[in-house]
Amino acid sequence: MLKLSKSIVLVTSRGFARRKIIEETIYRELWRNLRNRYWKAEFKIPPYDHTCQVGDPVLRVMLAVSRCRASKGKDIQNLVKTMVKVMRKTGGVGLAAPQIGVGKQVIIAEFTKKHAKVWTEEKFAAREALLFPLKVFINPELKVLDSRQITLPEGCLSIKGFYANVPRAYKVEISGYNEHAEHVTWTAHGYSARILQHEVDHLRGNLFIDIMDTKTFGDELWPRWNLR
Ligand SMILES: [Zn+2]
Repeated sequence: MLKLSKSIVLVTSRGFARRKIIEETIYRELWRNLRNRYWKAEFKIPPYDHTCQVGDPVLRVMLAVSRCRASKGKDIQNLVKTMVKVMRKTGGVGLAAPQIGVGKQVIIAEFTKKHAKVWTEEKFAAREALLFPLKVFINPELKVLDSRQITLPEGCLSIKGFYANVPRAYKVEISGYNEHAEHVTWTAHGYSARILQHEVDHLRGNLFIDIMDTKTFGDELWPRWNLR
């Protein structure tokens, strides 16, 4: 899933927000350590209500040949519903089914006012971002319409807390079925095209770290390591 790298903006621009993010992260880690130490951890069953993290084999499964048999029905409806819930809970702009542990060719994406709120006008323009409502693609097929490579920072909810510059094609066309079993096609450029390429990559077992500019790879919260 493509994640807005808003944390880094907040980290560098506002001290209060920086402290809040650091505190939240530390408490979350502390709670997880305590829980794992004193309670017997049990594995959840997919679809998860969280995003799998890099290292989980499900993120490396090639799904290009395992298409969904149906684009309508209770299973798909429930899967899409869970995906939307997880994507919104985690502040993402896109999500692929393998990220919640499901080996199906389903991706979702949206870029709303809420997401754009943390962006400056310059950033919005530089990335050629456009607002768009929730889009669902089942068995998506992606065609590159303009292969010019645009390199910009990217994050992923399956590689939480890290970012890097990633080259992506400028313009693509995606087609597939939505959750109502209707065939849909969408031509997207700029930031929307980036989101789609990132999500479709998940269905091929690829992550942004496979194609990133490695020297730009960074921890969103790197300043916390320099605190007293
Ligand atoms: Zn991702």
